[in-house]
Amino acid sequence: MKPETLAIASSKNYKKNQGTVNTPIHKTSTVLFQSWQEYMEADHGGDVYNSGNGQIADFSYGTGGTPTRFDLQKTLAEMEGAEYALVTPSGLCAITTVLLSLVGSGDNILMVDSVYGPTRRFCNKELKRLGVTTTYYDPSIGSGISELIQDNTKLVFTESPGSLTFEIQDIPAISKVCNAKDVPVIIDNSWGTSLYFKPFEHGVDISIQAGTKYIGGHSDIILGTITTNKKYIKKIFNTYKNLGVSVAPEDCYMALRGIRTMPTRIKAHEKSALNIAKWLEKHDKVKSVLHPALSSFSGHKLWKRDFGGSTGLFTIVLDKKYSYDSICDMINGMKYFGIGASWGGYESLIIHFDPSTIRTAKKWDIKETCIRLYIGLEAESDLKEDILEGLKRLD
Ligand SMILES: *Cc1c(COP(=O)(O)O)cnc(C)c1O
Repeated sequence: MKPETLAIASSKNYKKNQGTVNTPIHKTSTVLFQSWQEYMEADHGGDVYNSGNGQIADFSYGTGGTPTRFDLQKTLAEMEGAEYALVTPSGLCAITTVLLSLVGSGDNILMVDSVYGPTRRFCNKELKRLGVTTTYYDPSIGSGISELIQDNTKLVFTESPGSLTFEIQDIPAISKVCNAKDVPVIIDNSWGTSLYFKPFEHGVDISIQAGTKYIGGHSDIILGTITTNKKYIKKIFNTYKNLGVSVAPEDCYMALRGIRTMPTRIKAHEKSALNIAKWLEKHDKVKSVLHPALSSFSGHKLWKRDFGGSTGLFTIVLDKKYSYDSICDMINGMKYFGIGASWGGYESLIIHFDPSTIRTAKKWDIKETCIRLYIGLEAESDLKEDILEGLKRLD
């Protein structure tokens, strides 16, 4: 089945759902049973969806989830090619739950230097407080990761591409080293999504997505996903349960509704974003464009080898000579690009950032001004016109 079909056919069961096309929003705290024995049987501590035998092991209390969440988890697992899926109240919560499940006092983790900012903050504040050290590594490290793995290194965290600067990591090379040393590899797969990067085919053990982005697709929910195989699911699920992580059925409903159209939406984002990126490369005020699908981009070869496509988010690099005021003028005057965090919704977005203040493992050597664009589903020609007018405001 192709992803477009799977996204629509997965966890569809109109008979179970009394004829409704979508799985209803099942709301409950208590789950009722016919007998005490039946209750005891249901409550064996795992609601993890296993796409292997289709069993939902735990529907005994609301925090374990309801059928709305189980259907979402089933579809997520199938889409990404994993055995198990869990959802969390945010993408960041998916990351922190997985990290907490694998480390303890005295341990070390390896974290990519281009990682999403709040992940970095969690390591530097919370993990540090718990006695876990974080070593940041150069995103281009590849099999060189081997030299950083110490006896107490409990995991390698990757994010490819990074969501501001778009470095593509050599995930197969990292996985090869880590698989041999039995160190789990985690990926933040929010940019590529299950559509364009298949983590488990590249040796990754645990994948995380900000469901807030392309899965939700309409800037109206916050949700995270964790997908994994047999080896790590018990550890992750125990921490998940012990932390009391739970997601409201309304959000699960919205995410499942979003997934149905995700492949089609992503292809539209991909097409406009790539066209606009290529067009911007030729503009005389643009020094370079950081977009993995451009042949001029440093990570292009790796991207081409490992990814099935590109999505809607990329960065343009402008000459340092433009004043901060004129950059603000450019951003503030945009007609269709909203000023704000996040991406993956239908609407275009713009932000300005400076990676040189963030990195610690490898100095970011681009001294120019970086502007990140998220290309929404508006007409490409309108967006181009908006950007063209915006670039005119730079001086
Ligand atoms: C947005 C984002 C997250 C976090 O998702 P939230 O749902 O906003 O917590 C994690 N990783 C990446 C790369 C993101 O862009």
